Amino acid sequence: MSSALEATVYQRLREHLSYLELTAAAEHLGAELDRAQREKASATQILERLLDIEVQATRARRLRGRLRFARYPVHKTLADFDFDFQPSLDRAVMSELSTLRFVEEKRNVLLLGPPGVGKTHLATALGIAATEAGYRTYFVSAADLVANLQSAHLEGTANYKMRTYTGPSVLVIDELGYLPLDQTSANWIFQIVSRRYERGSIVLTSNRGFADWGQVFADQVVAGAIVDRLLHNATVLNVRGHSYRTRHYVDAQGKGR
Ligand code: ADP
Ligand code: MG
Repeated sequence: MSSALEATVYQRLREHLSYLELTAAAEHLGAELDRAQREKASATQILERLLDIEVQATRARRLRGRLRFARYPVHKTLADFDFDFQPSLDRAVMSELSTLRFVEEKRNVLLLGPPGVGKTHLATALGIAATEAGYRTYFVSAADLVANLQSAHLEGTANYKMRTYTGPSVLVIDELGYLPLDQTSANWIFQIVSRRYERGSIVLTSNRGFADWGQVFADQVVAGAIVDRLLHNATVLNVRGHSYRTRHYVDAQGKGR
């Protein structure tokens, strides 16, 4: 092939890639062809490399999109978590959860314990791990969940808003029980829990044990119904121990952990 013809073919190829929105492949085309020439790569190898570049770029873009959608307030991972600091936490259970089989099996994960022990960190880390594995996830505090559904209800868009919370494979509900919930709020929580029941996982954090949930929810019957559905097919992690936030203070007092 003459070099003029070669240049035209190259140009067309780049245009095809751009038209098909294979942007990463288009960007790397020149460098990859140069490299192929140097390494005497076959046509199959060139194609494979170019498509691999595009696949990786697409995968990374989709992950960024899912993470943006999910609205995690901070990026926390299981690798960031110091398990030595929290010996009450069952590592075998955490490691089983990190396989994400709970998502496949639509099991719930309930993280219970006092403030500062890492409940939100672990809930976020499980949610982010699922997001990285390709699942759609969503993070919301119990208070925001209730407030958003109630205001959507007043605007007549509750059913639409509900999809935000029922659609994702994992819904992280943070801080249930910090504030008491009135009848209306309890009903919204019930709606979400029952609609997701056996359809999708809930990862929930609470500073209250189940025995106290009657006080969290104004309505005992609704509280019972919520606990019933949440607990069926759930992994419960009771996190005890000291607050990670005040660990330096405790250390400074010479009491150790
Ligand atoms: P909780 O939700 O139980 O109140 P958080 O998950 O918000 O606690 O933890 C408080 C802070 O301490 C967060 O910044 C969290 O990342 C950090 N943290 C808590 N426990 C650990 C731990 N064992 N290892 C590393 N960081 C931790
Ligand atoms: Mg928390």
